[in-house]
Amino acid sequence: MSGGIAERDQRNLWHPFTQMSDWLDGRPLVIERGEGNYLVDSEGARYFDGVSSLWVNLHGHDHPLMRQRLNEQLERIAHSTLLGLAAVPPTELAEKLVELAPPGLTRVFFSDNGSTAMEVALKIAFQHWQQSGQTRRTRFVSFEQAYHGDTLGAVSVGGIDAFHAPFRPLCFEALWASNTDIRSLERILEEHGDEVAAVCIEPLVQAAGGMLTFPSGWLARVRELCDESGALLIADEVATGFGRTGTFFACEHENVTPDLLAIAKSLTAGYLPLGATLAREEIFESFLAPSGSGRHFSHGHSYTGNALACAAALANLEIFEREDVLARVRLSSDHLRGRLAELERHASVGEIRQVGLIAGVDLVRDRRGRVPFDPAERVGHWVCNALRHHGVILRPLGDTVVIMPPLSSTTVELDHLVDSLSRCIVEVTGG
Ligand SMILES: *Cc1c(COP(=O)(O)O)cnc(C)c1O
Repeated sequence: MSGGIAERDQRNLWHPFTQMSDWLDGRPLVIERGEGNYLVDSEGARYFDGVSSLWVNLHGHDHPLMRQRLNEQLERIAHSTLLGLAAVPPTELAEKLVELAPPGLTRVFFSDNGSTAMEVALKIAFQHWQQSGQTRRTRFVSFEQAYHGDTLGAVSVGGIDAFHAPFRPLCFEALWASNTDIRSLERILEEHGDEVAAVCIEPLVQAAGGMLTFPSGWLARVRELCDESGALLIADEVATGFGRTGTFFACEHENVTPDLLAIAKSLTAGYLPLGATLAREEIFESFLAPSGSGRHFSHGHSYTGNALACAAALANLEIFEREDVLARVRLSSDHLRGRLAELERHASVGEIRQVGLIAGVDLVRDRRGRVPFDPAERVGHWVCNALRHHGVILRPLGDTVVIMPPLSSTTVELDHLVDSLSRCIVEVTGG
């Protein structure tokens, strides 16, 4: 127990997605507190939370209503099981989510995170067809560069080699569609349409793939193709849900209702882990049968429907009602768009992609020839590292700088982020 937190961390912790030999050679930044959109470290230095603590925080770290509602729930009960018992927070939250979701999604299955929300979607889709007389529908289609989580079902429909390749031998085999040419999905469904249980997609933007944006109309076309072939559509809004794209759910941009919808990350505004999978009533009904028939959904987690997490999610939705969050996001994302365009003057800035308050800035050796940096140089990493000296926390995906600030970010805070990024790009790449 001796030493500061940094040393004790290095002695016992194993960090996610981290080469621990680098970590052990470095000096970890220790976060002690949150103040609004800022993180405060053990020495009292403040950092703008430019990636919303990995895409989860929405309204800042010390929102009074979040604290109040969590305290009120804690006075009542932290957790009771949904196995054989009902409870107030998950019931109220399910009602609210059904109201807010694209029309037709009427059933809510709770789990713990985005990966489990996707596992649940995959298993529901699979079992649905097994008990609906279409037992050939056992396969899943996913898009290149997709990310749906780190559990094995989610990894099976994950298309990022750097994350997923080591585990391929453990996974089921998905059908892979191009993420730039819709004809690829058309061909797959023509050839295998009657074997496909569901098509998985991250609506509008493939987040972990590098904030890769789909052209407008893509999602609506995917919905059409699913309808034509009879496959279900699973929308993974774990990253895009809860206002980040400027609408409450990204599916609203193209008036699409998926058959299954996975949500997590910002569901609790970044306060507690919680995932949910929403389903159409018809899918739910295929699970109704006499008990003992084996048609119920055999899946659940110890903390399914956790009362504290559901209370956090309800407080989050209450903030959306009380404050005009979406209107503010539209203004601040327009502001961010204007400011990010200024980065194009740098020789080492390639493509800039943005949807709402989600953006990716590609760093390249030569923007004209679109020559990437050698990945071993870790230019994205060093730019984000330099940003810490300017009081900004960002985390890149390879050489794409990811910008996903809380929805409560002010234009002054966004200006500071972009100005600092601009300076650090020059510092690290020279141009
Ligand atoms: C983060 C993410 C997941 C996984 O969520 P976890 O809570 O990290 O398990 C799944 N899908 C998408 C689109 C994500 O961005």
